[in-house]
Amino acid sequence: AVIAICCGTGCQAYGAKKVADAFEEELAKAGLGDKVEVRTPGCHGFCERGPLVVIRPQNIFYQRLKISDIPEIIEKTIKNNEVIERLLYVDPMTKEKKVHEHDVPFYKKQMRLVFGNNGNIDPTSIEDYLAVGGYKSLAKAISSLKPDEIVEEIIKSGLRGRGGGGFPTGWKWKSCREAHDPVKYVICNCDEGDPGAFMDRSLMEGNPHSVIEGMIIGAYAIGSHEAYIYIRDEYPMAVKHALLAIKQAEDYGLLGENILGSGFSLKIHINRGGGAFVCGESTALMASLEGKVGEPRAKYVHTSEKGLYDKPTTLNNVETWANIPLIIEKGADWFNKIGTAGSKGTKIFSLVGKVNNTGLIEVPMGITLREIVYDIGGGIPKGKKFKAIQTGGPSGGCLPESMLDLPVDFDELTKAGSMMGSGAMIVMDEDNCMVEIARYFLSFLEGESCGKCVPCREGVKRMRQILEKITKGEGEEGDIEHLEQLSQAIQDASLCALGGSAPNPVMSTIKYFREEYEAHIRQKT
Ligand code: SF4
Repeated sequence: AVIAICCGTGCQAYGAKKVADAFEEELAKAGLGDKVEVRTPGCHGFCERGPLVVIRPQNIFYQRLKISDIPEIIEKTIKNNEVIERLLYVDPMTKEKKVHEHDVPFYKKQMRLVFGNNGNIDPTSIEDYLAVGGYKSLAKAISSLKPDEIVEEIIKSGLRGRGGGGFPTGWKWKSCREAHDPVKYVICNCDEGDPGAFMDRSLMEGNPHSVIEGMIIGAYAIGSHEAYIYIRDEYPMAVKHALLAIKQAEDYGLLGENILGSGFSLKIHINRGGGAFVCGESTALMASLEGKVGEPRAKYVHTSEKGLYDKPTTLNNVETWANIPLIIEKGADWFNKIGTAGSKGTKIFSLVGKVNNTGLIEVPMGITLREIVYDIGGGIPKGKKFKAIQTGGPSGGCLPESMLDLPVDFDELTKAGSMMGSGAMIVMDEDNCMVEIARYFLSFLEGESCGKCVPCREGVKRMRQILEKITKGEGEEGDIEHLEQLSQAIQDASLCALGGSAPNPVMSTIKYFREEYEAHIRQKT
């Protein structure tokens, strides 16, 4: 038997490491130390229920485990194959207890292609990654595909960048490959700064080799010999696992000089970011990597032509890179069949806020918001009424109940006044004031604006002041129109996407919840 104890950051915060140690100790005491393997894989996604334990091969799923539960698990489940009812997950919608991991509604509608191995492999072991087929795609790419063929395959797959912009990845690679410069760079953006988002951290902690394999394939396709992973310094486990994975890949001849005897070489560096939200923007990130102040620049010239140190550069985020080995292994046609016409594959979302089941979910593009909130998320706690869901992080929009049947993809979310962003989803219930929500996100963005351009620096501040006035019951006639004018000006004139998308929470809440703004203003008059 195998006892898999989730050791992602969420479960570790609940004491998962101590649970794992206690399992080892109790198994040894019971004389089962050599018969039962204790494994500590990365994040299973259902963070709110941690520490999580899955007992294989039966796939029995126990949640919110305590050290005091361990002797009983060994006695009943491991020795006698009995299920302990009180440790099972209870579906908040049906009140049914679920025994197996695959029957838990949180997992049932998911399609865990990129994220699936997180719950199975030890992220500190390259052997574990190799055992599930890791680095096979790299071998295939290097031995049987020409760089141009790889680029064409990624274009054909329809993969779009998972970091926020949704730009077609293959076209980005193609323009970098075609740039005339012998020096090119590849970058992995792991500077995840959206409040409520933690999918990149989880992937880098739980399966760093999948990201590194994707980067090596990308660098080979583009013709780059130097790459950087830019990780937030607040992600110590992600930094540690990425460093270890690089070293292990080098030791196995999968990274460094003459990779797999092909003559192709690549060096990957790790760079730790200081926690500025704006450094998630590609040009600000590159400035920061160069040791300059992390400020965006106008992109009259694309970074695929002049990026890091003015050299052609391809930057993708963690999730995008982790998709690459899958596409190379299974082919663009396979990938192309998943998702919607304009958004292919799956997307990892962090589902948080007023929803019963919070955590990380991977779903096919095109799934509806209703399926996410009710089937996977288990609905709203305490029988309260759903009010809104914010998608896309602090600069995303808030969508009301009438939009719950919207299929989730890049284009549909944008059309509805929100965006995919990096994949944060925050659920709000009847108790949330939507004007206060808009004020909260604007104040976050005001603090994170780099201040380089006036519309964002002054405009976002002015919008926050008006929102503050309204929430205090001091709003006046004309405030809503003033907010709309400012939003338009900031969207039109900001230098980068932080400013350009900052008004989204205000625009979308005015569009869908205008009566709440009016009620606050009437309160004064
Ligand atoms: Fe800086 Fe905001 Fe201008 Fe972007 S839009 S460059 S964050 S001031």
